[in-house]
Amino acid sequence: MAVRPIVRADNPILRKKSRKVQRFGRSLQNLIDDMVETMHAAHGVGLAAPQIGVSQRVIVIQLPEDEEDPQSGKLYVLCNPEIVRTAGEEEEGEEGCLSVPGFVGDVRRATVVTVKGLDSKGRKIRIRAEGLLARAFQHEIDHINGVLFIDRVDSPEKIRRIVPMEEQKPQEASQKEPAL
Ligand code: ZN
Repeated sequence: MAVRPIVRADNPILRKKSRKVQRFGRSLQNLIDDMVETMHAAHGVGLAAPQIGVSQRVIVIQLPEDEEDPQSGKLYVLCNPEIVRTAGEEEEGEEGCLSVPGFVGDVRRATVVTVKGLDSKGRKIRIRAEGLLARAFQHEIDHINGVLFIDRVDSPEKIRRIVPMEEQKPQEASQKEPAL
């Protein structure tokens, strides 16, 4: 396992549609392991393969432990994920991205989504996600389609500059939501 460098918004790989995963073997597992380790090292709650320079439809998400959210703490790994259903109201919420350090934006997202995909062994999975987890799935699935959160804000004033997580002193927690 290895922590890999996270590519920034100006890298063209983040603007491409990623390729579908076709083989579910050792090299896919290595990619997933590296993605999880890289996400943890960056204190992120989600990561898509193109963010470490790999144009494949793989995403990982792990929300920080929260007693009130049963979806938190669990590691979600999905290959070829697709949103098959959205429900509930759309909600505007603050979002950050590990590939856009130093900025957050207010992004409208569906509050409930059903996602289907395959696990690391190619077995079918289907997840109903709400709130922050639903937001994370929409953000990561955007990544494998070449879309960034900055494309989704209604107006430029909804993007704000913040002190990135890695440069923060403990007393100045200006980044409230973890980055994806
Ligand atoms: Zn992101």
